[in-house]
Amino acid sequence: MSSLAADLGAAARIGADERGGVSRFAWTQELAQANDWLMERLAELGLEVELDPAGNVLGRWQAGEGTAVLIGSHLDTVPRGGRYDGALGVLAALDVVRRLKADGVEPRRPLWVVSFNDEEGARFQTGMLGSRAFCGDCDLEDWSSRGVPEAMAEAGFAFEQLPEARRLHEVGAYLELHIEQGPVLERAGVDLGVVTAITGMLGFRARFLGEANHAGTTPMELRHDALAGAARAVLALREEARSRGDMTANVGVMGVEPGGFNVVPGATEFTIDVRSPTADGFARLEPFVREALERIAAEEELGLELRETHRKEPVALDPGLQELLEEAAGEEGASTLRLPSGAGHDAMVLAHHVPAAMLFVPSRGGLSHTPDEFTAAEYCELGARVLARVVRRLVE
Ligand SMILES: [Zn+2]
Repeated sequence: MSSLAADLGAAARIGADERGGVSRFAWTQELAQANDWLMERLAELGLEVELDPAGNVLGRWQAGEGTAVLIGSHLDTVPRGGRYDGALGVLAALDVVRRLKADGVEPRRPLWVVSFNDEEGARFQTGMLGSRAFCGDCDLEDWSSRGVPEAMAEAGFAFEQLPEARRLHEVGAYLELHIEQGPVLERAGVDLGVVTAITGMLGFRARFLGEANHAGTTPMELRHDALAGAARAVLALREEARSRGDMTANVGVMGVEPGGFNVVPGATEFTIDVRSPTADGFARLEPFVREALERIAAEEELGLELRETHRKEPVALDPGLQELLEEAAGEEGASTLRLPSGAGHDAMVLAHHVPAAMLFVPSRGGLSHTPDEFTAAEYCELGARVLARVVRRLVE
């Protein structure tokens, strides 16, 4: 078994349940145990190891001069997640250092391995807390309101020291290997994905207001059925997303009031998640959602309340690094496809500040955030080898 496969197996046992799920959340024993395990591996390779004030694990190969090349991902998971999301990127980074050391590489600039804390934000919906603190993008007020200070104190950290995790100025580039978490590579029969951009995300909470009334005695043409309006909105979003191709749309939560089988729905409240990886596509999301819902409300004679809940602009990844990844993949005899990432990653936080890139390996059946998540060992190895080639180009 290769070192990378062995490491993946070892990490998957930390925070594992009997049914194959892995749960490691920020500021918990399970993640602390995984971090300790990682820090031992980093120390074995002779790196300077630290757990920073935001709970990020750093392994620094302080060679040469200038800014560091940073490689890694995250060891935290969603509830009952799989063994590859995040962990693969961290362990591949470890593997890259192992390969470079074995090859006698003497870097001209520092090479750092990172495991960012709380990428998933599973406990407090504070996604990418670690990479944001690392980049100086702390939102202390929001994090404080979610119970982070108490959890940090219990784990031996100090909330007020979070801003001290900022190390961005010492970093010159960021590279992350990750599973695709979607079906595109597998369906295309392609080995590796070179990520072009990380999708922009926009969220709303919408509410249609109709009139609750007797479901048997109210004539059909006189009803103000809030759920019929919401159903139309769901389909309008789907049609737009299907016809545009650069957009996804999802209604994932819906409540119907008052909620009786014999009562015309008086109100519906639902979430809307729309995403686009391009600046143009992203700019068209909000006007589309507003116009569609206003039109449907008018036609169905419903009241409408629409409130934005979150907004993250799309971010393009570095074109030069994308080319280097493609070249390196070619040298390994691997086929590549350029594709945007529909999920958020630490790379999107870093990419706002430094040249950043992501390499995807295929996810079997497109599955992720489940114990069934799987990527064949040969693809994990291939991803690590391609990453190692690019890192050598950057540090030698
Ligand atoms: Zn991830």
